[in-house]
Amino acid sequence: MNSPKVKAANLKRRRAKRAKQATEMAELRAKVFERAGGKGELCGLGGPPTDLCHLNGGIGRRRQKQSKENCVAEHRFCHGLLDGHPELMIPGVKAHCARHGYPLPERFRILEAKQLQQKGLTNG
Ligand SMILES: [Zn+2]
Repeated sequence: MNSPKVKAANLKRRRAKRAKQATEMAELRAKVFERAGGKGELCGLGGPPTDLCHLNGGIGRRRQKQSKENCVAEHRFCHGLLDGHPELMIPGVKAHCARHGYPLPERFRILEAKQLQQKGLTNG
């Protein structure tokens, strides 16, 4: 067991880490929303976006995925589509990435490949 002194030091360190992460998150959010310029970055529609969304969703590796390149500002509705029906957002994601010179996120490269494959199957 750690001594009370060590425990207190660990707690302090954890709190400092969380505070740093919260600051970084707020900075990232501000940068992404500034880039969005009052429009949804995938749908292109006006009406200020409300949500910070991840293109490559990240369970487990969330921290590494908190980059400007992997995040977009979107409306609540579009965020729902992005998470629930990402295949519908492929054109928006491609246009967004092309506009900013970002590579197409892995998740969308895979989705697009699947779609092309399915088209190939139905066309003959
Ligand atoms: Zn939108």
